[in-house]
Amino acid sequence: MGNDLSIYLHIPFCRSKCPYCNFYSLEYSVAAGLWADYKAAVLRQLEELIYEYDLAHRTVNSLYIGGGTPSVVDVDFLASIIEAIDGYLGLDLIQEATIELNPADVRLELLRRYRELGITRVSLGVQSFNDGKLELLGRRHNSRDALASVDMCREVFGDDVSIDLIFGLPGEELSIWEADLDMALSLKIGHISLYSLTIESGTLFYDKYSNFDNDQISSRMYILADNLLSSAGMQWYEISNFSVPGKESLHNLRYWLGGDFIGLGPSAWSYVGDIRFSVKPDLNSFLRARMEYEKDILPALRRLKEARVLQLRTRYGIDKGAVPDDWVDRIMDFVKIGWIEEVDNKYVLTLQGRLFSDEIASELIY
Ligand code: SF4
Repeated sequence: MGNDLSIYLHIPFCRSKCPYCNFYSLEYSVAAGLWADYKAAVLRQLEELIYEYDLAHRTVNSLYIGGGTPSVVDVDFLASIIEAIDGYLGLDLIQEATIELNPADVRLELLRRYRELGITRVSLGVQSFNDGKLELLGRRHNSRDALASVDMCREVFGDDVSIDLIFGLPGEELSIWEADLDMALSLKIGHISLYSLTIESGTLFYDKYSNFDNDQISSRMYILADNLLSSAGMQWYEISNFSVPGKESLHNLRYWLGGDFIGLGPSAWSYVGDIRFSVKPDLNSFLRARMEYEKDILPALRRLKEARVLQLRTRYGIDKGAVPDDWVDRIMDFVKIGWIEEVDNKYVLTLQGRLFSDEIASELIY
């Protein structure tokens, strides 16, 4: 991974705000007419980062355009940003370029345009194929749109299609989740990401469901998903991510396996060497001449431990010889209670361990 670099481009605009979402995004109407300014600010940030972190000779091997909702912005605007990034860093050696799409926006012509721009993979925010769940989540699409959008994506991108599914909603029964999984598997796509609903402060759900607790049902739902997906030939490669072998997201693996990446746009994170930083989540300040960052320079041991904890989220685990000395006893305790197992000289989370990954991480880091 030495010279490689990944780029994340944040598009912080959505048509409307979903009641459970705490990502940094603004309603699209706020953004109308801002494209030229946004592009200028993104490129200014890119120039600053190239200069400050000496990135000019790095090899970009993945690009991820996420949000927000990248599919709401004008495709010519995206084309001009991609072209500019190519001009600065060169995208000719790129192995994977993903764009996140809202099923309500998907059209064949749009997908073909993305293909022409060099996009190799799409990630669809399906969330569910159940109309009741979609309505509760305040999504712009219904189950019919979701199915039609997956069909169109498959037509243009083959099995380089990922969908997000969400589980553990208020009142959701196991059978509803099972139907979502069955439907997803019937579509023969390469990648599925699964998220348990968490109630985040600052969202409408936070006020509405303040005493909500889905821990038990979410654990049962995750176990069901693991059983169904693995029986169908999809394997977990990170706690929330399952794929057909060979269809893992290279870009996301870089986050978990410790490669350098830069994030462009307000709220986007970067990690270069030992320095981790994010752009202030504020569009107005982003558009101003000088970027504002929140920055952490991590001591070597802290960086090592954080890197190992992230690795442990993946099926690749941690090499036994790479375990920090003061972790050995705690890892052995987790092995004893069945949360971690030894596989091919590595420590890897068991299915039970995946359910308690946050507890394991905080035990190891602190
Ligand atoms: S479309 Fe996605 S990013 Fe936008 S508000 Fe909804 S969940 Fe959040």
